[in-house]
Amino acid sequence: MRLNEVPIITSAQIERRIVELAGEISRDYADRELVLIAVLKSSIVFASDLMRRLTIPILLDFVRARSYRNTESTGLVECTYLPEQDLPGKHVLILEDILDTGRTAATVVDRIRQESPSSIAVCALFDKPSRRKVPMTADYIGFKMDDQFIVGYGLDYNECGRELPDVYVLEAD
Ligand code: 5GP
Ligand code: MG
Repeated sequence: MRLNEVPIITSAQIERRIVELAGEISRDYADRELVLIAVLKSSIVFASDLMRRLTIPILLDFVRARSYRNTESTGLVECTYLPEQDLPGKHVLILEDILDTGRTAATVVDRIRQESPSSIAVCALFDKPSRRKVPMTADYIGFKMDDQFIVGYGLDYNECGRELPDVYVLEAD
């Protein structure tokens, strides 16, 4: 496997889109207590860029979700790290790198709901709607993508490539 030489989305395109998303989010959550919950590990690059474009104060926390990819048809997902903040009364925005089958985001939303926040919304930088296996729509979406595996800007291929500023499609040799 190798990465296509030409990025499918450049860091400049991501930066522009994040400015737009941050503007929307800042307007929607003005005067509310917003907790950003980034889904480890892939969304940390997105989270760190997005939070610095917001014009409202936030609290930052994390969840870690582990999926069992060898059973893709049944696809169990488990949260192995949970936010440390008290969430009752807070407005939560979950930051996901990419929505694929939707199972990770659905599991995280269900688990966070048990903490009784005032509201829960999902912001995904990338979305592959044609891959969905469970009902899941994000409230904020950066880029709609076709069914292709992408790497870079926090997203990995077997843990490699997270450091790449641009996003590339993984291709068979
Ligand atoms: P889902 O639970 O929606 O099927 O998958 C979500 C997780 O799978 C993402 O958080 C991400 O870690 C991984 N994933 C899904 N599609 C891609 C992709 O195209 N590239 C990479 N690097 N990871 C992906
Ligand atoms: Mg991953």
